[in-house]
Amino acid sequence: MVYGNTGDDSGSGVAFTRDPSTGENKIYGEFLRNAQGEDVVAGIRTPLQIDDLKDIWPEIYDELEEVCQILEDEYKDMQDLEFTIEDGELYILQTRTGKRTPNSAVKIAYDMVEEGIISKEVALLRVEGEQIEKILHKQIDTDADVEKIASGLNASPGAASGKVVFDTDEAARRGNDGEDIILVRSETTPDDIHGMAAARGVLTSRGGMTSHAAVVARGMGQPCVAGAEEIEIDLENEYFEVGDIRVEADDTITIDGTTGDVILGEAPLIEPKFTMEFEKLLGWADDIRQMGVWTNADTPEDAQKALEFGAEGIGLTRTEHMFFDPERLGVVHQMIIAKDEDDRQKAIDELMPMQKQDFKGLFKVMDGYPLTIRLLDPPLHEFAPTDENSQKELAEKLGVEVDEIKKRVARLEEANPMLGHRGCRLGITYPEIYKMQVRAILEAASEAQEEGIDARPHIMVPLIGNVNELKVIKDEIVDPAAEEVFSENTEVEYEVGTMIEIPRAALTADKIAEEADFFSFGTNDLTQMGFGFSRDDVGTFIPEYLDKGIIDKDPFQVLDQEGIGQLVKMGTEKGRQTKDDLSVGICGEHGGEPNSVKFCYRNDLDYVSCSPYRVPVARIAAAQVVIEDELAVDEGVDGY
Ligand code: PEP
Ligand code: MG
Repeated sequence: MVYGNTGDDSGSGVAFTRDPSTGENKIYGEFLRNAQGEDVVAGIRTPLQIDDLKDIWPEIYDELEEVCQILEDEYKDMQDLEFTIEDGELYILQTRTGKRTPNSAVKIAYDMVEEGIISKEVALLRVEGEQIEKILHKQIDTDADVEKIASGLNASPGAASGKVVFDTDEAARRGNDGEDIILVRSETTPDDIHGMAAARGVLTSRGGMTSHAAVVARGMGQPCVAGAEEIEIDLENEYFEVGDIRVEADDTITIDGTTGDVILGEAPLIEPKFTMEFEKLLGWADDIRQMGVWTNADTPEDAQKALEFGAEGIGLTRTEHMFFDPERLGVVHQMIIAKDEDDRQKAIDELMPMQKQDFKGLFKVMDGYPLTIRLLDPPLHEFAPTDENSQKELAEKLGVEVDEIKKRVARLEEANPMLGHRGCRLGITYPEIYKMQVRAILEAASEAQEEGIDARPHIMVPLIGNVNELKVIKDEIVDPAAEEVFSENTEVEYEVGTMIEIPRAALTADKIAEEADFFSFGTNDLTQMGFGFSRDDVGTFIPEYLDKGIIDKDPFQVLDQEGIGQLVKMGTEKGRQTKDDLSVGICGEHGGEPNSVKFCYRNDLDYVSCSPYRVPVARIAAAQVVIEDELAVDEGVDGY
């Protein structure tokens, strides 16, 4: 037992061998004179910085530095240690691997490779997918004119705006309902974790960098400003004051966990940039991974962002998203509600140039990379005009009564739209729509090619469950459309493939492969139909299923390897029995979730496709699985 509270020659502190916020290779921490360890972490007194130790007890600082080096050499990772100084003598109480911000995790991993402490492989294993996602956090635009009202410790990086909430349960409820909330507390305790997790950020008026709020927020990757002591909080009456400014519950503030600033109102936020270390780490991942990483993108802007994040193709462009544009919606209504083929064709002719422009924009960005465009998929009623105004407008345009429009809309309603008239079923019953889309894709590709762009169209048919559906679409729609387009335009090579998102498609994948150039697993629908869980209604029972341990993860977030994963495995194997070089990918949400990415690699998929921001996550996960499964076994990875 040693005592840090025996007088002014004693004290207690916490130290990190490197800065847990930035990763800088410099001892970081805090201490209090004449105090025990609990006083430092409790946040009751605001501690001194470890640098102050240099002035107060220079020899002890040197000794601490030496200890930090010994510990890092031994554990080959950043350490978090507790120490006590009793009557001028240093004692180390404990050491453990230190928690760190995502950016510092990357920097420490990179630096330790450069310093020869760990290998590149170990560095890659040290960075978790979730941390990578957090690196892509927003910051406040430094050019913006903002009203800074206080500052505290920059406890956990990233900026966030939201409404001030003082009550943890309320923050949890409203945050989980999708509201942007900043949780404001004097300090936090473990009872506040659910509120912290659901909020966009956390602001406390007391405590240091090792206080509960700081440590927990850092671990969660939540922006946090801690120990903003100028702020006086009145929890009971739900407001805080800084000087003569009073901020009430529900007022909007912005916190910047990178600088420690507290700002009144909503500050403009800018997208994060990659650090050099992050770029390097991603480069090492690319050298090791064997699976491609593509993206799901519907606009040239998203596609551009994804390319910057390292995407190597587009695995899914959802064309229905292009139809939601308010300017187009009227024409789309007309197409859906048309009374006959002629009427429908008129609307389609209006849509065709718009779609062609959309696709051309994408081909330009994706020069030299595959661009997988999926033909229209949504349930028809989603596009039906339901409000009075659009029904009136449409009635006028078509020269019919509003009641007639209402009748046609009513006819489109379905009891189970997710299992209804959508996907390729729509294409088969209204071939003009798919024909227009195929023509728009191929004409855009052809024009792009003439302009020197390397356009690589992959046409993807959704919701195939039976090979004959694909055959009909190819024979009656795609082939004739291509023939028409190429009789007047330069020919372009293209592929026609299918989503595998209905269990029957996975079960009959050998047959479907006869007609498909590629497969892409739509694991959102495959999960929906494999489990029989409606994608849109799971919120009512999944939390209880998780609580009771019936399932251990939400299967819409993490691929259910035991069940749905078997359909992916079987679909891939059966497809390749027919075509051994069949290209197989995944474009459901799971394509950016690290465990699911690893499963895809272990089951021989060629690529995963995910939203742009998850591309770096997938790149790292795709490398980690190679290291975990192969390099660690075959070559031995030191320290793994
Ligand atoms: C899927 O079902 O996994 C998929 C990618 O398609 P969507 O989410 O558009 O249904
Ligand atoms: Mg789907």
